[in-house]
Amino acid sequence: MTTAPTSRTTESAVPRATVPGEVRHDLVLRAARAVTPEGERAVEVGVTDGRVAAVVPLGTGLVGDEVHELAADEVLLPGLVDSHVHVNEPGRTQWEGFATATRAAAAGGVTTIVDMPLNSVPPTTTVANLETKQRRAADQAFVDVGFWGGAVPGSTGDLRPLHEAGVFGFKCFLADSGVPEFGHLDDDELRLDLAELRTFDGLMIVHAEDPDALSSAPHEPGRHYRDFLASRPAGAESAAIAAVIDAARATGARAHVLHLSDAGSLPQIAAARAEGVRLTVETCPHYLSLDAEHVPDGATAYKCCPPIREQGNQDGLWQGLADGTIDIVVTDHSPATAELKEPADGDFATAWGGVSSLQLGLAVVWSEARRRGVALEQVVRWMSEGPARLVGLEDKGAIAVGKDADLVVFAPDEAFVVDPRRLHHKNPVTPYAGRDLTGVARRTLLRGRPVGDRPTGRLLRHAGAPAPADRPSDHPAGA
Ligand SMILES: [Zn+2]
Repeated sequence: MTTAPTSRTTESAVPRATVPGEVRHDLVLRAARAVTPEGERAVEVGVTDGRVAAVVPLGTGLVGDEVHELAADEVLLPGLVDSHVHVNEPGRTQWEGFATATRAAAAGGVTTIVDMPLNSVPPTTTVANLETKQRRAADQAFVDVGFWGGAVPGSTGDLRPLHEAGVFGFKCFLADSGVPEFGHLDDDELRLDLAELRTFDGLMIVHAEDPDALSSAPHEPGRHYRDFLASRPAGAESAAIAAVIDAARATGARAHVLHLSDAGSLPQIAAARAEGVRLTVETCPHYLSLDAEHVPDGATAYKCCPPIREQGNQDGLWQGLADGTIDIVVTDHSPATAELKEPADGDFATAWGGVSSLQLGLAVVWSEARRRGVALEQVVRWMSEGPARLVGLEDKGAIAVGKDADLVVFAPDEAFVVDPRRLHHKNPVTPYAGRDLTGVARRTLLRGRPVGDRPTGRLLRHAGAPAPADRPSDHPAGA
């Protein structure tokens, strides 16, 4: 009989002297399983000054001031990078906020988020507005935080200054965004802005639903999910994606399709990429794990736009991930207050659209991947390495020498039932309540330090932007 092994951390009061020439790390992690860029390996990871300084075969015997040995049921992962998070602060801070969102991120194994430009007031459409948001985030971030800019009608002249101020790219809508302060672009404006972005190789990320296709769809309010689904048809996505492809082709700019729900759009995406159009695509945990057939009447926690579609569509999205047409999986964590998200009458037409899953994204995707026989290292490519590459975060997304030591001790076989009371989201409304999931982030390290009671996250700017004064203490609180 043996007892289950547990992870151990040792910190000797009298550190062993190093022999001449031996490197002593701040922290050494020993993992029989670690997801590295070369695949799953048994390694020791040496961390010095917050960065990965060594990745060597397990048994090498790296020396560290602190040594953490992972348990037999744990895997060391690079911290996840979630490039699609709506923090909503300031302005709609009752929906979410930097402290709650980044705590939830850390609890779910996410060490970097990139905040969406809308639902906060002000939206991130000018440098002054970006600075307002950065000031609010600076002393509240428990993980690293970057920002997207927004492209709205008439804002073409603000794109380059925002780029130079460090945003990772620009979000636009092709249909109503749901909030009045963030207008949507028509086809001409999309091309105008893409042409501007081309001048500095900026990235446009697009909410792709076609407004005409949406307005000509039936709009039957009420508690039945199938009526809501009919109001956001797959054809609205495919028409808008066709417009994005045309505009990216015509301008040579980089475009990224946000939250792809319609698997029927995959062939045109694959064809455009094969032709050389600079297009990338993401999908989200809810499209990969939930299906229209199982949404109960009045369960508005499932409402998001574009909508969760049928089971067969979900299978198509997994196929798109497997064949590489879909690049990444990020949450589109888009909270609102419980009152807006779950109106008493259960009407899908009036409920706020958005699924909050920042803390649950890894477990949701991994649980479904596992069921489908997809390896954990593949999930890490979609949720860490891929998003880091999309936004150009060269220090993130891998356990490799020189990268930030953003690491997650993950127990892939540990089962749990989603209890909303254990979510750090400010409004823990979730369609996953009561769901059986597998995979727990037991420990999350940011630059080699456990995410704890103090916000140690930094504000990120894209490579090439001026260095940020990013320590929380460098910024006064408040806007
Ligand atoms: Zn979103």
